[in-house]
Amino acid sequence: MGNLSIFEESQEYMPGGVNSPVRAFKEVLINPPIIKKGKGAYIYDEEGKEYIDFVGAWGPMLLGHCDEEVVKAIRETAEEAISFGAPTELELRLAKHICTTVDNVEMIRMVNSGTEATMSAVKLARGFTGRDKIVKFAGCYHGHFEGFLVSAGSGVMTEGIPGSAGVPQDSIKNTIITEYNDIDNAKKIFKAHGEAIAAVIIEPVAGNMGVVPADKEFLLELRSLCNEYKSLLIFDEVMSGFRVAYKGAADIYNIKPDLVTYAKILGGGLPCGAYGGRKDIMKHLSPLGPVYQAGTMSGNPIVMAAGLATLTKLYNNPEYYVSLEEMGERLEKGVKAIAASKGISVAVNRCGPMLTIFFTDLHRVKNYEDAKQCDTKRYGRFFKHMLKNGIYLPPSQFEAIFLSAKHGKQEIDRFLEVFNELDA
Ligand SMILES: *Cc1c(COP(=O)(O)O)cnc(C)c1O
Repeated sequence: MGNLSIFEESQEYMPGGVNSPVRAFKEVLINPPIIKKGKGAYIYDEEGKEYIDFVGAWGPMLLGHCDEEVVKAIRETAEEAISFGAPTELELRLAKHICTTVDNVEMIRMVNSGTEATMSAVKLARGFTGRDKIVKFAGCYHGHFEGFLVSAGSGVMTEGIPGSAGVPQDSIKNTIITEYNDIDNAKKIFKAHGEAIAAVIIEPVAGNMGVVPADKEFLLELRSLCNEYKSLLIFDEVMSGFRVAYKGAADIYNIKPDLVTYAKILGGGLPCGAYGGRKDIMKHLSPLGPVYQAGTMSGNPIVMAAGLATLTKLYNNPEYYVSLEEMGERLEKGVKAIAASKGISVAVNRCGPMLTIFFTDLHRVKNYEDAKQCDTKRYGRFFKHMLKNGIYLPPSQFEAIFLSAKHGKQEIDRFLEVFNELDA
C-alpha cells in the first residue's frame, strides 16, 4: 500500500491515524509519509522514497537508525530475556553506568517514558518536601501528565489554565506558570509561595517551544532560590540528556539539579524513561520510603540492553560530540547565510546537535511569547519544500531539528542546497 492509502485507513482505526498527535502533520496541512525503515541518517517511506532524517524519532536516535551495536544488543537479549518483572543484571548495569558517569545522579529509577519520569519525579519531590506546589515555565513540555498541561497567558499566573480538555481545574491548582528566562518573575513567585513550593521543573535547554537555551545566570539564580526556600530543582533532561553533552545540560551549565529526568536517548529508541538524583531523596521511593511508584514493564531487559549499548557507545566515543557540535554549527551558519542572502528573516537557536529555525523578525527567541510570534505559515511552506526534496524535518515550528552521529558534511550540505532552492 502507498503512503496515502495506509494513512487513510489508519484514520478509521486510530484517532487522527496516529498514536501521538504531532505525527499527523496537521500544522503543515499535508499527509505524513508512512515510514518503513531507517539506516544511519536516512529513512525510507512505504513508497521507497529516501529522506535525510532530521527528526531522529524526536530525539532518541543519536546514534542514527539501526546502529549495529544496538541492534545486536536487542537481538541477543530477545533470544533469552523478554520480560520477567524481576530484578536482572542488565538493569543494574545501566543504572550503575549512569550513576558512575553522571555526577548529579547517585540513584536512579527506570520507568517507561518521559511522561512517567517527570510525573514520578514531581510526586517524589512532593513526598520528600511535604509540599504541593510546583513551578513550571511557559513553553516547557514535560509530557502529558495533567499537572503539566497548563498553558500560560501573558505574564505570571498563579492559577493554571488547562491546556487540554479533560484536565480538572483541581489537578492543576498547584501548578504555577512563569516565563522562561525571567528570574524576576520567579523571585516574585517564591516570595509569595516559597514555603509551599515542592519543586521547580525546567528544561535547562528547552526544546519544546523550538530550541530555547536557558541563560546561565537565570539557571544559577533558580538554583539559589531553590536552596533558599528548600525546594527541589528538577532538570527535565528527557530531550537534552546525553544529547547536548553526554552528561546533559547540567554539565554544560555546571549546575547540579536535585533530581533529573531522562527518556528518549536513554532507551536507544525503545520505550524508556528514568528519574534520579540525590540519594537521600531517592530513598523516599517505595519500597524504601513512602512515595509509591511502580511499573510492570520498568527496567525491561530488551530496553535496558538497547539503552546500555547506546549509552556505552556514546560514552566511549567522545569524538561523536565534537562532530555533532561541528555539524550543528555548519548547519546553523549555512542556514543563516542562505536566509540572509534571500532576505528571509530567521532566528536560529542551537545547542549542540539540536536547533530550531524560527521564522521571525526577532533577533533572538528567548521564551514562549517570542516563539509564539513566529510565522508558522512560512514554516509550513519551508517544511513542504524540504520534505518534497527528501529532507525530513519536524512538522511544526515549535520543535527541534535533531542531528545524529551519522550526519556528516554530505547530509548537512544537502539540507543547505535544498534550503537554497526555496522561493523566498
Ligand atoms: C519528550 C519529552 C517529554 C515526554 O516524554 P514521552 O516519552 O513522550 O512521554 C518530557 N519532557 C521533555 C523535555 C521532552 O522532550
